[in-house]
Amino acid sequence: MAGKPWHTGPFRASAAAVRQYAVTHPATRCWRCGLTIGEVRRHNPDAHWTAGHLVDGQVGGPLAPECSVCNYSAGGRLGRARQLKQRVKGRTKLEW
Ligand SMILES: [Zn+2]
Repeated sequence: MAGKPWHTGPFRASAAAVRQYAVTHPATRCWRCGLTIGEVRRHNPDAHWTAGHLVDGQVGGPLAPECSVCNYSAGGRLGRARQLKQRVKGRTKLEW
């Protein structure tokens, strides 16, 4: 089974390096919200570092440390847009 292109190849290694850097440098700030992981966790205790795309959805594009709260909300927007397109194509009746 082939993974999504942004989950394979060079991205994987550099994403791990980005996350590792953020984890080992507590003063690292999320490029999106500008908070440290400690500040993010005051409101989202389960937050962790991810490697975020500086350009949403760009395969092989630049990465930066991004808190999971920002990353999943950005990814969720893209994912929902794709799901909506598939729903419209594959169904005559929308079910929510
Ligand atoms: Zn953030």
